[in-house]
Parts: sequence; structure tokens; C-alpha cells
Amino acid sequence: MANVAETLREKGLKVTPQRMAIYRMLCETRAHPTAEAIWEKVKEEFPAISFNTVYTTLGILERAGLVQRLHVGEKAAHYDADTSPHIHLCCERCGRVRDLHKAGVDLTEVAQNLRAKTGYEMSKIELNIYGICPECRH
Ligand code: ZN
Ligand code: MN
Repeated sequence: MANVAETLREKGLKVTPQRMAIYRMLCETRAHPTAEAIWEKVKEEFPAISFNTVYTTLGILERAGLVQRLHVGEKAAHYDADTSPHIHLCCERCGRVRDLHKAGVDLTEVAQNLRAKTGYEMSKIELNIYGICPECRH
């Protein structure tokens, strides 16, 4: 993983220890945590950090293109530091969100095809598949 401070600086963002901790935490997980879960984790290192700071920081990181916000479920947004277009599998029972890399569908290719067909300049492509995960089915 690239140096977190450097990546933030490259995007023109002010580097603060809190920002670094939030971004690093997202880079180190594949769990697609909610803002609430990120806050709980970052609090271990910065007990005084407010939820608002975490939420605001996530917005800043999203606008800088460093993280993507997944619009899964109605309850809370989930965040992903993997900003490449990829499919997500969402369990309707436990709420877990997983990557689906081997679906045989290349979302970048899909976006390119759609762009040619519709004339839209795609800024974001999100494909979420919902169901019940194997753990919850058993
Ligand atoms: Zn589940
Ligand atoms: Mn993902």
C-alpha cells in the first residue's frame, strides 16, 4: 500500500493524524465498514474523535476519489478504499458486503459500452447484488 500521508498530499488534502488513521483503516479492510464502524475503530487510537469528524472526513476522501461510498441498504452508507469498479454482494440478513471479483463482468467495460450507446460520460458505476449469504442460509 502506498504511503497514506503522501497519497493524501497528492490529492491536495491537508494531512492530519485523524485523516491518516481513517484512510489507513479503510485501506486495510475488505469489510466495507459503515461510518459508524469506522468511528468505533478509529476511536481506539483517537478516543476524543467525534462521529461528525469521521463522517466529514469520509466525505472529503470520497470527493478526492480516494474512497467510494456504497449505496447499499437503507440504514447506512458503507465505504470502500478500493475505488476500482467492482460488483458487491450484499446480505439482506446480516448486512455484510463482499466483493465479487469473479463474476465474468468487467464494469469498466460495461461503462465504456454504455457510454458509446448513450453518450453519457459515466462518473460512477455501482452494481450491488442482494441476497442471503451462505452463513446466514445455514
Ligand atoms: Zn448474511
Ligand atoms: Mn469493494
